[in-house]
Amino acid sequence: MRTDNRAPAGSPLASPCAVRPEVCGFTPYTPGLSIDEIRDRYGLAQIIKLASNENPLGTSPVVRQTLRRKADLAFRYAQSGNPRLTAAIAAHHGVSDLRVLAGNGSDEIIDLIVRVRAVPGVHNVVAFRPCFSIYALQTRLAGVDFRQAPLATDFSFDWNGLLALVDDATAVVFVTTPDNPSGFCPPVADLERLARALPPGCLLVVDEAYMDFCGDEAAHSLLSRIDAFPNLAVLRTFSKSFGLAGLRLGYGIFPVQLADSLRRVRLPFSVNILAEEAGMAALTDTVFRAETLRVTAQGRAALHAGLTALGCHVFPSKANFLMFRPVSVSGGAERLFDELLRRGIIIRPLKSYGLPDLLRVSVGNPDENAAFLKAVGEIVAHAG
Ligand SMILES: *Cc1c(COP(=O)(O)O)cnc(C)c1O
Repeated sequence: MRTDNRAPAGSPLASPCAVRPEVCGFTPYTPGLSIDEIRDRYGLAQIIKLASNENPLGTSPVVRQTLRRKADLAFRYAQSGNPRLTAAIAAHHGVSDLRVLAGNGSDEIIDLIVRVRAVPGVHNVVAFRPCFSIYALQTRLAGVDFRQAPLATDFSFDWNGLLALVDDATAVVFVTTPDNPSGFCPPVADLERLARALPPGCLLVVDEAYMDFCGDEAAHSLLSRIDAFPNLAVLRTFSKSFGLAGLRLGYGIFPVQLADSLRRVRLPFSVNILAEEAGMAALTDTVFRAETLRVTAQGRAALHAGLTALGCHVFPSKANFLMFRPVSVSGGAERLFDELLRRGIIIRPLKSYGLPDLLRVSVGNPDENAAFLKAVGEIVAHAG
C-alpha cells in the first residue's frame, strides 16, 4: 500500500517548495543571544553570557584532554547505538543498559518520544504553560494536539489542572523539574502521586536537565526508584552540569521495551564519536562535577541575595539559573535586558515563554555574577 504517498484529494502539490501545514505555522525555537552577535553589535571586547544555563567553569580539563587525544577519530563513524557510552551512563545511575538511550542533546530524545508515541490526529501531549518550548514545537510539528495547563501564579505546579487535561488519548505528559524558567522543584512524593494517577497507557516524561543542581536528588527525583514505575521516563543531559552543551549529548532512561523502539528508529549516528568520548570522560571527572555544583550553589545564593537587595522579586530556584521580576527598574524587564546588553552582559528575556515582565539569569562564575550585579545596580540607580 503506497496510498499515503499521494497528496490528499483536492490538494495537489502546488509547487516543489510546498510544505506540510505544520511547517508553515512553525515558530522556530528562540535561543539565547550569542556572544559573537553582541560583540559585533555593540563593538565590545568582552562579553559575559548568562543566557543559556551553560557551565560557569567551562569545559572539564579531563574532557579537553580526551578531545585532543581522540581528535584523530573524527574520520570514523561512532559505533551504532553507542554501547560504551550507554553502559557508562547506566552505571552512573545504577540502571540497566537496556533502559538507556543517548541522543544528540535531550532535544533529540524529546522529538523521538513524541514521534514514536503519538499518532497525529489521534493522540495528545500534555505539559504545563509555560514550559520548555521544545515539547510544544516538536509535538505541533508532528501534527499532534499539544495541551497546556497553566502553572500556579507562584510558578508551582497545579497537578489537578494538569490531570484535568489528560485522557485516554494522552500519549505523553512532560514535566520539567527543576522547572525551566522558574527553577521550581516539587517534592518527589508529588511526582510519585502523578505517576500513579495517570491512565495506564500514558507515559510520564520527567525532564531532569537541572536535577543535579537541586542539592538533594533523593528528595526530588524518582530516578533511583524507576523500576517501580512502568510508565516513567527520565531525561538528563550533558549540556549543563557536565559542560558539554556544544557537543550535543543528552539521554533518557526508559521502560526497556520503549527504549528498544526508540533505539530502532533513531538515526544511527546522531551521537557523534567525539561527543561519545567526551561524555564518557565527563562521567569520570567527579572533581570538575563537584566543583561545578559547589560554584553553582554559592553563585545562586549570591545572585538571589544581590538581586533581592536591588529590589527585584526573585523566585526560589533549585537549578543553575534564577528567574526574577525587576520591579525596581523603570521600563521593567525589557529595559534592564537592553541596558545589560549594552554593557556586554547577555541574560534571557522570557517574552518567548509568554512572560514579558520576567528575566532569567544563569549562574556564572564569581566574577561574572559580581559584574552582573554591579551592572544591575548601576541601571537601578540611574532609573530614579
Ligand atoms: C537545557 C535543557 C535541556 C537540554 O537540552 P540539550 O538538548 O540536552 O542541550 C532539556 N530540557 C530542558 C528543560 C532544558 O532547559
